[in-house]
Amino acid sequence: MPAMFTVAPVEAFNDNYIWLLQRDGVAVAVDPGEAAPLQRELVARGLRLDAVLITHHHADHCGGVAELGRHWPDLRVHGPAGVAGVTHPAAEGDDIELSFARARVIAVPGHTLDHLAYQMDGMLFCGDTLFAAGCGRVFEGTPAQMLASLKKLARLPPETKIFPAHEYTLSNLRFALAADPANPLLAMRQSRDQSLRERNLPTLPTTLQLELASNPFLRCLTPDILRALTAREGRPMTDETDAFSCLRAWKNDFR
Ligand SMILES: [Zn+2]
Repeated sequence: MPAMFTVAPVEAFNDNYIWLLQRDGVAVAVDPGEAAPLQRELVARGLRLDAVLITHHHADHCGGVAELGRHWPDLRVHGPAGVAGVTHPAAEGDDIELSFARARVIAVPGHTLDHLAYQMDGMLFCGDTLFAAGCGRVFEGTPAQMLASLKKLARLPPETKIFPAHEYTLSNLRFALAADPANPLLAMRQSRDQSLRERNLPTLPTTLQLELASNPFLRCLTPDILRALTAREGRPMTDETDAFSCLRAWKNDFR
């Protein structure tokens, strides 16, 4: 069934996307880190902002909420309970009734402990947890937690469209090619996405199917990646958490 609403990216800061969902003049925004670019877009499109979904407490995801609340006094703000401005706290398993969709809340701790993802109509809005060809840094949780969260997302239907909050794809692909150099999908993605970025177009959304086949953080036990990790660490990997943890640490240092 086709989605009952459309989704457009609104660029914010250097490389954030605020995802703008709309139908019949009503809008829902995901992760408005700043208000101004979103507000301009709402005015230009003649939209009324009805609700906001927040994935986690970092300012580049929720910093625009207070100002948006001044423009839209009835605004409902769904998100982790501890985030300033949240009017409707959300948690694992909740179903959020939006005016044109129902969003299922998935708790994905790791990048932060409060991180949530929102699944609706074959789409996933996943903030800084799963990126195109990469994953978020593990700031507050443990690598085991982050891996468990990614595996939770990996079990969604493969045709799910993935909407991360950052345009990190090209740098993620450079790292992915270092970790999994023989994967033909990565070379294909790199040439396609370079051409998109040259035209200033987003590389997102991606699909879960493509990520399962080429995102190294969803594939850290594949032989080629294990070989690369073993060579880098100078020891065999003991298990998936160990492999994931080493892969994430490698990416942190990768330039
Ligand atoms: Zn973040």
